Amino acid sequence: MSSPRRPTITDALRARRLLADHLPPTPMWSYPALDATAGATVLVKHENAQPTGAFKVRGGLTLLAGMDGAERARGVVGYSTGNHAQSLAYAAARFGAPCAIVMPERPNPAKAHAVRAMGAELIEAGADLGEAAERAAALAAERGMRLVSAADEPDLIAGVATAYLEVFDREPGLDALVVPVGGGSGAAAACLVAAALAPRCEVIAVQAAASPAAHDTWHAGGAPLTRPNRTRVEGLATGRGFALTQELMRGGLADFVLVGDDDIAAAQWALMRDAHTLAEGAGAAALAAVLTRPARFAGRRVAVMCSGGNASEHEILACGRGPRIARRTAG
Ligand SMILES: *Cc1c(COP(=O)(O)O)cnc(C)c1O
Repeated sequence: MSSPRRPTITDALRARRLLADHLPPTPMWSYPALDATAGATVLVKHENAQPTGAFKVRGGLTLLAGMDGAERARGVVGYSTGNHAQSLAYAAARFGAPCAIVMPERPNPAKAHAVRAMGAELIEAGADLGEAAERAAALAAERGMRLVSAADEPDLIAGVATAYLEVFDREPGLDALVVPVGGGSGAAAACLVAAALAPRCEVIAVQAAASPAAHDTWHAGGAPLTRPNRTRVEGLATGRGFALTQELMRGGLADFVLVGDDDIAAAQWALMRDAHTLAEGAGAAALAAVLTRPARFAGRRVAVMCSGGNASEHEILACGRGPRIARRTAG
């Protein structure tokens, strides 16, 4: 299968215009206590402050805004462990389009509840995301709805790219930008925008070591690989690489690194303690990459993508009982 059309910076600028009526820019700033802990200037891009609690809503709204009336009336189908689902459900409600979401059985209750609250039809089917995807494809065919993948979808990447337009508008002199990866739409978008606006900024992707498909695919040169998918961090839990996002990441990333699930939990705690920010695991993975590589980031100006804040209550409690990163003071 050939990969879909490659989005450009022009698509990102167009998406910014489409989104202007729907979403204000999210904040990005640093916290002295977090800078001290990290030994670097850490700018936290707060996508946890989106109305759906994650950056993906930028993509969902861009996709729905770009559909014609007839296609919109038929509706959209997505499959997701949570945040892509909330993004589609939110955007569909906003544009009055029908929306069906397939989630693997026993989903994160907070995310399932949010999808239902937005008025989407929620179907729990399949042991994992692969099986949910098959069910979603069958449903889309049966009802004539548009099936929306969370990764290989140019409109979603263009929409997500607006987050990085905001990052570089605010901080054109960044040394590095660290982005968490599942399917790779976020990191692909970051590469696209950095290449146009901040070519000297290193874009570094991070994935969970227990689900390294995108990481291994990138290091192997880009032909999509499948890998075990055992991370407990939703949002980073993907078992394969995707052609389109890999194509954009190929020339755009300075590096692609891995972090452990416990490092992610420790970074989640550091965000709560030092930046009074509730991140879900995926939203703390970029900070985990910085905290586990102090020599690499020492004294630099680094933006970390806090991609989402939809932690379940179970996850928040587990994080409080987990390993901690020592508090440090500056100087
Ligand atoms: C989806 C998601 C990611 C991973 O994004 P991709 O675009 O799939 O790589 C990271 N963090 C959160 C909170 C997410 O929902």
